[in-house]
Amino acid sequence: MTATNLFQTRPIGADPHAQGRPFRAYTHRDLDRITAIRHLPAEQRFAMKVVSAVLPFRVNEYVIERLIDWSRVPDDPIFQLTFPQIGMLAPEQFERVADLLRRDAGPAELEAVVSGIRHELNPHPAGQRELNVPRLPSGELVTGIQHKYRETLLFFPSQGQTCHAYCSFCFRWAQFIGDKALRMATNEAQGLHAYLRQQRCVTDLLLTGGDPMVMKTRHLEAYLQPLLHRDFEHVQTIRLGTKALSFWPYRFVTDPDADGLLALLERLVAAGKHVAVMAHFNHWRELDTEICEQAIERIRATGAEIRAQGPLLAHINDEPDAWARLWREQVRLGVMPYYMFVERDTGAHHYFKVPLVRAWEIYREAIQQVSGLARSARGPSMSAGPGKLEISGVADIGGEKVFVLRFLQGRNPDWVHRPFFARFDPDATWLDDLKPAFGEREFFYEAQYRERWTG
Ligand SMILES: *Cc1c(COP(=O)(O)O)cnc(C)c1O
Repeated sequence: MTATNLFQTRPIGADPHAQGRPFRAYTHRDLDRITAIRHLPAEQRFAMKVVSAVLPFRVNEYVIERLIDWSRVPDDPIFQLTFPQIGMLAPEQFERVADLLRRDAGPAELEAVVSGIRHELNPHPAGQRELNVPRLPSGELVTGIQHKYRETLLFFPSQGQTCHAYCSFCFRWAQFIGDKALRMATNEAQGLHAYLRQQRCVTDLLLTGGDPMVMKTRHLEAYLQPLLHRDFEHVQTIRLGTKALSFWPYRFVTDPDADGLLALLERLVAAGKHVAVMAHFNHWRELDTEICEQAIERIRATGAEIRAQGPLLAHINDEPDAWARLWREQVRLGVMPYYMFVERDTGAHHYFKVPLVRAWEIYREAIQQVSGLARSARGPSMSAGPGKLEISGVADIGGEKVFVLRFLQGRNPDWVHRPFFARFDPDATWLDDLKPAFGEREFFYEAQYRERWTG
């Protein structure tokens, strides 16, 4: 902390670590060293080892001590959100790995089985790797970038390819399992800037990851400070996708380069950029700590906005009241509700999935409880290959029960906000499960999507 702290807001009470604490993470190798889980049944701890041999696991002391209510484990939503659970693998997959661990199989044998299971879990949903990587005029591929929607460019800085903790439902889980070939990162500030210079239609740059807030401030500066040059006037908005407000709010308050980070945000705002922290929240409990409130206040004091988004998940937040309370708390703290997502069809999808009809009911029943300021949350939205699809509702049209859908974002902007219809299916959990209504052969966008984007 510097002597003159421009962003100091108010003293913090109950948090014994309010003056800061060093970051310490635990991964699957450290499960036996986590004191908080030592009292759990041996069988449950063994199950955690099995699941975390396949799916990424990382947690830190703040999440363990301040977010999880251990008296409510295993049902506690933050425990479900971060710790591996037996149901996250299919019984048959679980048994294959459990068997190897029980007989202490060698690393090569384990790796072969684990890798096979990972490939069964649809590691790269929605054609993320192949479909969205752009080229420079020279023909060179710009790695670490996805350009799917005209206005917004996604950038995956290499120093931000991890998170302060991992979500058990992460849709980018395949990036975190050590297979470098599966990563989407880059350390190429130059490539990013060259691409942005020529793409005058891009108004928003969205740094994502992993979590860009894992990066040191000086790395963030190297990417962002150059955008104040007039070559980048068209880039009006800089978005930072992060879960640090949930998993490590100290990043904005007491970490050694927290003040530097806030000063950077302030400079970008002062130079006329809209800076938006795109915070990932799943449960109101994540907002319910002093340090998180402090972090929010300090970010907002720079002139940056905070918008909040997150998926709807079984075992974590599949109740209207949980969402209404989350959105109300956000508005109270000056955070704008943005998207409610449908969990993608990857990783432990079968554990977290919620039928689309239920997702819509939860959204609707939550929205009805809150004021208009919290109704800025849109959804439930499926981020699929062709675009972001909202389930607008269920209707009865001429005697046929249908889902009413529309694009909130589309690969072709012309698809956006045209209502269309799918046959009602109470079990559908993802776009792939839906069939066109009224005897149509395919949805209105499908022929074009096939032709222009999937070859
Ligand atoms: C969601 C998303 C964006 C941002 O879309 P907005 O609706 O502007 O928030 C950009 N690129 C990709 C690939 C996305 O999934």
